[in-house]
Amino acid sequence: MQASTRLIQSFPVDELTGALAVPIYQTCTFVQESPGVNKGFDYSRTANPTRSALEQLLAGLEHGHSAYAFASGMAAIDAVLKLLSTGDQIVAIDDIYGGAFRLFEHVYRRFGIDIVYCDTADLAQVQAAITERTKLVWLETPSNPTLKISDIAGLAELAHAVGAWLCVDNTFASPVLQQPILLGADLVVHSATKYLGGHSDLIAGAVVAATEELGKQIQFIQNASGAILGPFDSFLVIRGLETLHLRIAQHCRAALQVAKFLQTRPEISAVYYPGLESHSGHAIAKKQQPDGFGGIIAFVLNDDTVEAATQLATSLNYFKLAVSLGGGKSLVCHSASMTHTAIPAETRRAAGFADSLLRLSIGLEAADDLIADLAQALDSLAVPVAAPAALEPESVLA
Ligand SMILES: *Cc1c(COP(=O)(O)O)cnc(C)c1O
Repeated sequence: MQASTRLIQSFPVDELTGALAVPIYQTCTFVQESPGVNKGFDYSRTANPTRSALEQLLAGLEHGHSAYAFASGMAAIDAVLKLLSTGDQIVAIDDIYGGAFRLFEHVYRRFGIDIVYCDTADLAQVQAAITERTKLVWLETPSNPTLKISDIAGLAELAHAVGAWLCVDNTFASPVLQQPILLGADLVVHSATKYLGGHSDLIAGAVVAATEELGKQIQFIQNASGAILGPFDSFLVIRGLETLHLRIAQHCRAALQVAKFLQTRPEISAVYYPGLESHSGHAIAKKQQPDGFGGIIAFVLNDDTVEAATQLATSLNYFKLAVSLGGGKSLVCHSASMTHTAIPAETRRAAGFADSLLRLSIGLEAADDLIADLAQALDSLAVPVAAPAALEPESVLA
């Protein structure tokens, strides 16, 4: 059975009523027959039938033992970090999501967790960074925003050699393209706000655990800390999952066409898309995400300035200027001033991420129309415009 069939066939039918769509159990508590005797649910922070249905679907998609749905991707990441104790060390990808960097540096470092960043695409760098204190290796692949590819199986081996866990933020690939647990990861996190929800209409997150033991720990933290996903948003993510395979296939098809077009333009100095043969991670990407390379593209302008990037981003008609990704509507984002402001400029540039870098989230419009829009905006670069306002040092991330 193919993965799309397996997913659709695993949507549960409501046992009580036969409802084909998963019902929204909008309740905080559940009436008990006698003290401590219930139908498997007692309080919706601990478990809720709508959320449980979503969690089972996510565990199945990622080939994990169990999954837990959280109020946001950041709440999911936070739950994984709560597995650690003071004195533990994290070895993390340098090209890291800005919000994860902020949580690591400005919350968990205060609690005595040490974080070391390195280029996880280079196994030797990770090997050199790992110590006896390393408890967690933190990975995004493809990474945000330069789509760097890291070898999940190789990194799982390095982490396990010192008894550390490997956690993969699988938001960009989605479980349609990549299942890190099958490659040796212990934990997978998602910003379900992106492809899983798929309609740019909610904030949600998930943690998938490879084993029963890790799943129990995440469940304990979820119940203890309480950053759960509500029943209505759980329903919306379930609804989004029904079209996940279709959407991802279309995002991949259109993104490859757009990336190839961008490569032909003289205004552009670099195009980052793992589906391009010129991409440094192409060979590994082909191996560990064989069904496609995703819907995110980043590129850098020859005129590597914030001004040029601003002009291009504001000249686009179909690509809306907004943070986030993974929905049906195409988006453009200037990462340095919109999503990665928590990362100092020197750190950002050292990770290979330039001032003019623009990130595209390819939506579900026709690729030809998106290409025409990019062409007219690139043509407009010849015409200078006024300088943009200064960057805010610490604005809201997404
Ligand atoms: C958006 C995002 C997050 C954070 O998720 P939220 O749902 O916004 O809290 C984490 N990791 C990656 C790769 C993301 O793109």
